[in-house]
Amino acid sequence: RPEILVTQHRDADGRLFPVEARLSAVAVDGRTRIVMLATALTENLSAQRRLQQQERIFRQVFQASEDAILLLDGDDFIDCNEAAVRMLRCGSKEDILPVPPWGLSPEYQPDGRRSTEKAREMIETAYERHFHRFEWTHTRADGEDFPVEVTLTLLELGGRRILHVVWNDITERKRNERKIEELARYDLLTGLPNRRLLQESAEALLQAGERERRPVGVMYMDLDRFKDINDTQGHETGDQVLSEVAKRLRGCLRQCDTVARLGGDEFAFLLPDTSVGQMQRIAERVIEALEEPFTVRGVSTRLGASIGLVRYPEDGRDLAELLKHADIAMYRAKDGQTGWCLFEPEQASNVLARVSLERELRHAIAERAIGLHFQPIVDATSGTICCLEALARWISPDGRPVTPDVFIPIAESTGLIHPLGDLVREIACEQALRWRRQGFAVPVTVNVSARELQSPDLVERILDTLNRHGLDGPALELEITESATMRNAGQNVANLARLREHGIRIFIDDFGTGYSSLSQLKQLPVDALKVDQSFVRDMVTDPADANIVETIVLLAGAMGLATVAEGIETPEQLRAVRELGCTRVQGYLFARPASAESVTELLKAGRVDIPGTGRAR
Ligand code: C2E
Ligand code: CA
Ligand code: CA
Repeated sequence: RPEILVTQHRDADGRLFPVEARLSAVAVDGRTRIVMLATALTENLSAQRRLQQQERIFRQVFQASEDAILLLDGDDFIDCNEAAVRMLRCGSKEDILPVPPWGLSPEYQPDGRRSTEKAREMIETAYERHFHRFEWTHTRADGEDFPVEVTLTLLELGGRRILHVVWNDITERKRNERKIEELARYDLLTGLPNRRLLQESAEALLQAGERERRPVGVMYMDLDRFKDINDTQGHETGDQVLSEVAKRLRGCLRQCDTVARLGGDEFAFLLPDTSVGQMQRIAERVIEALEEPFTVRGVSTRLGASIGLVRYPEDGRDLAELLKHADIAMYRAKDGQTGWCLFEPEQASNVLARVSLERELRHAIAERAIGLHFQPIVDATSGTICCLEALARWISPDGRPVTPDVFIPIAESTGLIHPLGDLVREIACEQALRWRRQGFAVPVTVNVSARELQSPDLVERILDTLNRHGLDGPALELEITESATMRNAGQNVANLARLREHGIRIFIDDFGTGYSSLSQLKQLPVDALKVDQSFVRDMVTDPADANIVETIVLLAGAMGLATVAEGIETPEQLRAVRELGCTRVQGYLFARPASAESVTELLKAGRVDIPGTGRAR
């Protein structure tokens, strides 16, 4: 075929001028020679020819490309190359051009979106950003779906905004990706699913089990004496034994069961729709199968196995928890005779209960599922309400209340005390504001834990909470345990002093238990001491306790501090603390901690009954 080029030649003066060269292959004497016919071009003609040449080159590239290339004007294809026709297995481009861009695709894309909508969005994005690349599934003329990578590039052609579309068939790439994914889900040595696949299968299975109320069994197994084999006979033998173990395990299971290798000589079983009885039989079958000697290169060795059994949903909420419990049961199995052991909740140490409680608590804080009860602190003679102590309340997801004595220590040891403290103060301020609006300007007292006191930005956060609610310092009071104030005293003193500058009153809680010295106490910027409940409880019967209370009251008085006696349950206790000079009291005798609504009723009265003073009793 002749080839036409536009090129340049030099005239006799050395000036360049445009030439159209026509190259043809000609057979001369049995040899192929190239003949060039050159024609000088005028400027005009030259420009035109050059354009034609560029177009020709473009068309050649367009046609020769292995990638399918199409030109899209809005929703209309205006051209496509041979590769596009081949890719879609159509007869000609006439089968493609009249169809809209989403017409060559299944109704839905793999991400679940309708092809029409997604295509429109992709095209819009390309027009906006001038370039857009994404994955797409097309349908070939014979009905087969296949994945492509689509690249859209915006071109300005003769004043029109055209999208240059490239489809790159990524069937092979996807297949490889899937293969790699597959590999990542199986244990290379035994071909069994690994932990990751087990996790995925478990998620689906536990969900279905929950929905359909079918029990799921989970077993955790490790091999006895496997380490010995590995150490004495070498890793190769160990590996062969493991492969053989995997083979035998599969032989013990039903089609629907999964056994996965978790690593080393640990295996886990996922048994759908399986009662405890069935699970025990499977465990016995597995143990029996592994009791047969293993023969590797003529040497026969004996193994054994221990299996822990757990039931879903009774023994755990997710795979991790189930496996943890199955692991505990497995250790029990090692002590026993049968080789397997069913998990009993008593086996779980407090640690495990704590871990799940921690998770629930974290969730509860995030969801603001912590509430507050309020307990008045009242004037010991008149019963006037001086302030209200806020006490955190939490109902765990299974509906049972968890007391602060349980969850506060967990919060303290896990750092959750910081968001919990923030939440408590937030709710306390909200409630204080509500009461203010109802005409009750009574301060709310919150407990601040020792851990919180060490947080460098505690003061800022407290002031911020107050500010956000438009409350002043005296609206909030803090109770800090004696032991907390004494730890790291320098820093604490500075923090407490700053809080007091803002009018926030500070009480020392559980006073008498922290063994602080008088000199330490003198430094503390505080307003009142709360005598610990334990002294109040026993002071009527135990003169030593009465003595301690008396000393505390004297001490407080000498330093200009008020004393609050807490935990007062009987009129005798009340009389005793009053005799010693306690001015404020708190306890079940006057009011139990109660919801904000009930406390509002007390606030309307402005005071509580003081029993044992002749009026109530
Ligand atoms: P606390 O600060 O010494 O609170 C007093 C506890 O004694 C409360 O228990 C209260 O309900 C109870 N109580 C009140 N009057 C009487 C009575 O007459 N007799 C008896 N036997 N008990 C009475 P609660 O609410 O279970 O709180 C226990 C502890 O948990 C609190 O002791 C406090 O240290 C901590 N706590 C509670 N809420 C929070 C909070 O929001 N943050 C922090 N950091 N700690 C909190
Ligand atoms: Ca307290
Ligand atoms: Ca206390």
